[in-house]
Amino acid sequence: MAHILLRHRDIPDIDQLDVYVQNGGFAAFKKAVTTMQPDEVTEEVKASGLRGRGGAGFPTGLKWSFMDKNNWPHYVVANADESEPGTFKDREIMERNPFQFLEGVAIAAYAVGAHRAYVYLRGEFWQVAAWLDEKIAEMEAAGYLGENLFGTEYSLKIYTHLGAGAYICGEETALLESLEGKRGQPRIRPPFPPSYGLYGKPTVVNNVETLANVPYIIANGAQAYRQFGTEKSPGVKIFSLSGNVNKPGNYELPLGATFRELIYEYGGGIQDGHKIKAIMPAGASSAVIVANDEALDTPMDYENVQNVGSMLGSASVIVIDDTFDMDWVVAKTIEFFKHESCGKCTPCREGNYWMLNIIERIEEGEGSPQDVQLLDNVAHQMQGKCLCALGEFATMAVTTSIERFPEDFAKRVGGQHE
Ligand code: SF4
Repeated sequence: MAHILLRHRDIPDIDQLDVYVQNGGFAAFKKAVTTMQPDEVTEEVKASGLRGRGGAGFPTGLKWSFMDKNNWPHYVVANADESEPGTFKDREIMERNPFQFLEGVAIAAYAVGAHRAYVYLRGEFWQVAAWLDEKIAEMEAAGYLGENLFGTEYSLKIYTHLGAGAYICGEETALLESLEGKRGQPRIRPPFPPSYGLYGKPTVVNNVETLANVPYIIANGAQAYRQFGTEKSPGVKIFSLSGNVNKPGNYELPLGATFRELIYEYGGGIQDGHKIKAIMPAGASSAVIVANDEALDTPMDYENVQNVGSMLGSASVIVIDDTFDMDWVVAKTIEFFKHESCGKCTPCREGNYWMLNIIERIEEGEGSPQDVQLLDNVAHQMQGKCLCALGEFATMAVTTSIERFPEDFAKRVGGQHE
C-alpha cells in the first residue's frame, strides 16, 4: 500500500515544492478555500473519524467544532513538541514530508477561521524549525501562504516557535503558556483551548501527524480515508517501533494491525533470538503489557489496546526482551518523569521525588519487600490527584510492572538479582 503520511518513501524529493505540487500538493488546500465553507471542512474531517495522534485520541473534527465563534481571533497551533521516549514519527514527517504537514496546518486554519498559525517545536528541534522556516518561505513565495490566497479574501501566515526542551510543553496548555513567553506549566482546565487558548483566544492545538492526515481527507473525502483502519479507529497511524527488535523505525500501518505484525513482520522479530517479554505501547507513559499470545494478537487501535490493560497513546511501541528485568525499566521511567515534572502540583512533584528515592534504594540492592509495596503505594496515591496527565503517566509503568512482573522485583529485593 502506498503511504499516506510517509509519502517520501514512495516519492523521492517530495520535500521540494515543485515535486510536492506535481504530486497533488496543495490541491486539498485550494479545494477547501475555493469550494468549501469552513464548517464543511470541519464536517468532512469529523466524518473521516480522524482522532488526535498525539496520544489522547480525541476526535479532530469535533475539537475544531468546539471553537467559540463569539470570540475572535482564532488560532491554530501545531504541537511539534514530540518528547515521549520512544516517539520519533513527527520528526520524520516534518523533515521528509514537510509540505504535507504544513498544508494540513493551513487547512485546519481555514476550517476554524484562523489567520495565524504556529508550529511549536521542542527546543532540540532547532534544525527542524530552520528547515520549516525555509519551506514556509517557499510557500509564501509561491502564493500558498500570505494574502488573498487562490484569489479569495482568505489570508494566512504560519510561524515556527521553539520551546526550551521540556517534556511538559507537549501538554497543550503548558505549550500555550510557553508560546506566550511564560513558564511552561499546565493551566487548570476547563476552560479548554477552543474557548480559552493562546492569548485567551479560541485555539485548536493538534499534533503534527494528525494534521498531516488532513490533506488526504479533504482531497479524497472522508469515506476514502475510512477504507483504512477499523470502524471506531479509522485511518492510518505511524507506529514508532523501538527496543529489542531487529528493525526499529517508523512504520505506517492501518489502525488495527496487530502487535505481532508490527514486531515480527515489519520489525524483523526480537534481537539475538531472545524471547519477547513486555511491550510498552505508548512509550514511557504506558502501562506495561505482558507480551503473551493474546497481547501479540491484539489489534493496535484505541479500543483494543485498552482491552489488554494499556493504551495506544502516540503508538510508540517499546519492545522489551527477556534479558531485562522490569524493575530496571521502572527505574528508567521514574528518572525521566522526576526530571520532567514541572513542579506545579504536589502529588506529581513530591510523588516522583519519593518514587525515585525508593527505586534507587531497590536498584542499589538495599531495598526490602516493603519498599516495593511502598513504591506501589506512592504511585497509587498519585493517581487521580495530579493536575495534568504527566502525573498519571509517571505511575503507569510502576504500578503495572509491580502487578504483572512481581518476580522481577522479588528477585531484586530478595538478593537474587544478577
Ligand atoms: Fe506539573 Fe506534574 Fe502537576 Fe502536571 S502533574 S502540572 S507535570 S507537577
